[in-house]
Amino acid sequence: MPITDTFKKQIAQRRRLFFKICFKCGAKNHIDAQRCRKCRGDQLRLKNRTLGAKK
Ligand SMILES: [Zn+2]
Repeated sequence: MPITDTFKKQIAQRRRLFFKICFKCGAKNHIDAQRCRKCRGDQLRLKNRTLGAKK
């Protein structure tokens, strides 16, 4: 089922791309997270991409 609503699509893309990844265990964390929810490590890298040109 394709998403036709542009606004909803943008939100979905944001949810998918805006998060942090733990250096230690590779777990996905919330964009505002200070520590990893899995291993409590504080080394999180940002996976914060701008929305691409993909349709
Ligand atoms: Zn971790």
